[in-house]
Amino acid sequence: MKSVIRPPEETGWEHFTSGQNIAWKTGTSYGFRDAWSIGISGRYVVGVWVGNASGEGRAGLLGGLTAGPLMFRLFDLLPTSSWYDVPHDDLKEQQVCKKSGYRASPVCPETETLLIPQTIKSNPVCPYHHLIHLTPDRQFQTRKSCEPEGKIISEPWFVLPPLMAWYYSRQKPDYRFLPPGKPGCFESENTPMDFIYPPPGATIMRPVDFDGEQEKIVFKVVHSNPETEIFWHLDQDYLGKTRDSHEMELEPEEGQHLLTLVDDKGNKIIRKFTIKE
Ligand SMILES: [Zn+2]
Repeated sequence: MKSVIRPPEETGWEHFTSGQNIAWKTGTSYGFRDAWSIGISGRYVVGVWVGNASGEGRAGLLGGLTAGPLMFRLFDLLPTSSWYDVPHDDLKEQQVCKKSGYRASPVCPETETLLIPQTIKSNPVCPYHHLIHLTPDRQFQTRKSCEPEGKIISEPWFVLPPLMAWYYSRQKPDYRFLPPGKPGCFESENTPMDFIYPPPGATIMRPVDFDGEQEKIVFKVVHSNPETEIFWHLDQDYLGKTRDSHEMELEPEEGQHLLTLVDDKGNKIIRKFTIKE
């Protein structure tokens, strides 16, 4: 927090440099009702709260613009203190995966050395980097037994579970989904689908619009290969199939239901949920 990234509306921070290290953070409440800033130097903690005693909001009451400058002025009034020494005796070096932050496995392509507390006994190994075997044209995952000697391409791949991958890829467009398995040779052991909605064991209150009419509920799933077709079944009834965007509007009756989805490779996921009026 010594180097909190400053949002553009907070330019002008530079003149608060007080010649000592201060780790600080600001906050602004919903509706600009109050703003705060808290900081720590080697020896002192300063907290500043700015707001109206009545709780009334005022536009522009941002922590970084109001409470922050006041906090730095208070630090200037206090004796200068030196920053903490690194407690090397209590720390140990560890190679961690740059992408996941877990302890690096031999497969992780980029690692960095961090100091972590000695007391951490078991830091799990990166679960997301896997050595993937690809066909020479890189179109499919494959096995050694399916390719001519020396033709297979093996490389580390960052693989998230389907649901995590779906959210992650929206923020990180460079996320690479795994290529499909080579037909007849390689079928993934992990289910490549997951539900986004409903969550496990959900009880869903049937939504009603302003006119008292029942609204439909949008069910949504994600597939690690988005082009795959998914076939939808509610209880015993086949509903239809989806491709690319895997969502469907449904109006299930009150009671318990099973939503069963099968992809074109035969992978299946089932979710139980309850509808209440
Ligand atoms: Zn890794």
